[in-house]
Amino acid sequence: MDFQLNEQQREFQQTARRFARDVLVDVAKDCERTSAPVPDEVRRQMGDLGFLGVNIPEEYGGLGAGKVDALIVLEELAKVSPAAAFPVFEANCGPAQTLLYHGPEHLKTRVLPRVCSGEMMVSVAMSEPDTGTAMTDLSTRAEIRGDRIVINGVKRWCSGAGHARGYVLYCRLADRPGAAGIGAVYLEKDTPGLSFGKPETFMGVRGFHNAEIHLENVEIPVENIIVPAGGVRDLMRSFNMERLGNATCALGIAAGALDVALDYTQQRIQFGKPIVEFQAVQLRLADMKVDVEAMRLLIHRAAQAAEDGLPSLMDTSVAKSFANEAVRRVVAHGIQVMGANGYHTDYPMEQKVRDSWVWGIGGGHIDLQKVNITSEMVGRRFSQR
Ligand SMILES: Cc1cc2nc3c(=O)[nH]c(=O)nc-3n(C[C@H](O)[C@H](O)[C@H](O)COP(=O)(O)OP(=O)(O)OC[C@H]3O[C@@H](n4cnc5c(N)ncnc54)[C@H](O)[C@@H]3O)c2cc1C
Repeated sequence: MDFQLNEQQREFQQTARRFARDVLVDVAKDCERTSAPVPDEVRRQMGDLGFLGVNIPEEYGGLGAGKVDALIVLEELAKVSPAAAFPVFEANCGPAQTLLYHGPEHLKTRVLPRVCSGEMMVSVAMSEPDTGTAMTDLSTRAEIRGDRIVINGVKRWCSGAGHARGYVLYCRLADRPGAAGIGAVYLEKDTPGLSFGKPETFMGVRGFHNAEIHLENVEIPVENIIVPAGGVRDLMRSFNMERLGNATCALGIAAGALDVALDYTQQRIQFGKPIVEFQAVQLRLADMKVDVEAMRLLIHRAAQAAEDGLPSLMDTSVAKSFANEAVRRVVAHGIQVMGANGYHTDYPMEQKVRDSWVWGIGGGHIDLQKVNITSEMVGRRFSQR
């Protein structure tokens, strides 16, 4: 067991830190102010630096490095803002990974190099108006007619909707109930019959550009099937990487909050001395540090153990549920030690509080992760029905 970053990982960290400081801070302010997604030219800069394919093999345009390396980059960018880091999340952890692990070769060679260069982004459309946690109840229908697929349905909460060029769409590919009928297809935004709702307004993560997707007789070739009906287990296996990305965004927010709180408490004077001199403040800072370190260890352990494949359900669920709860504790301490300034929009902490909450809702909520953990411990799945 080696808990030190290797030379390559330290280099990734430094490059990402510099990019975050020199470029992303201003981008994040714009995302927050206008709710607009990361501009295309900034995404291309991310591509030029290799950030959009850290763990994608070189043959598809990536750097061919490991999962821990990819998460190190994501953490540094999410420290500034998870919305500004979103293209890196989608490429290194999200739907691009579903394509990489399960997609047919022609899709991988067509799409992944464009993702890695920053030419385009791929989003995931899984949730529906009536289907959140109970994903296997989804009703979007993809009917196979000869060599074509005709898709009808409505997707909800798709981050990047209308902005991303490509979509990994979970849909019902066979007339079988529950998981047995579900698979995933790839489609692009200019396909006739595809339209997008107006962007949603959220408490935080402004810049995710989240919206509904409407599919009316959308036709795509049958070769665009990523996973056929009955392949939910595969989809969930690569979704474990998305969950580690989710946990890493939580980690980035927490680590960023700790940096801000450390700085502030050494500057702010009360009773004639910096407030870091008060023991109660010291304890809060220490609690923040312990949570940040524990989050990072659990996430990196899950990623490291998966270096040759995908992260396990147990490791992922442990890391995600812990990180999702820990980030809420950390930002709560952060805002408390900053008093009124922590609550004010001139300071970064209030945004971190707002940005912290969503990770324990999306990507499989905290309670579901805990059900997974117990399920893995006792060696059987618990029916939620
Ligand atoms: C900012 C944001 C971005 C998102 N991005 C995407 C995206 O890009 N693509 C996409 O497909 N979706 C996305 N989502 C949707 C997200 O995945 C869902 O919100 C999530 O799956 C939970 O579904 P729900 O919100 O419908 O909650 P519900 O399923 O209605 O659950 C509500 C609550 O009920 C409880 N609950 C439900 N079922 C159980 C159970 N079995 N056991 C215990 N408790 C339970 C939990 O407390 C849960 O939080 C996004 C959501 C947000 C807020």
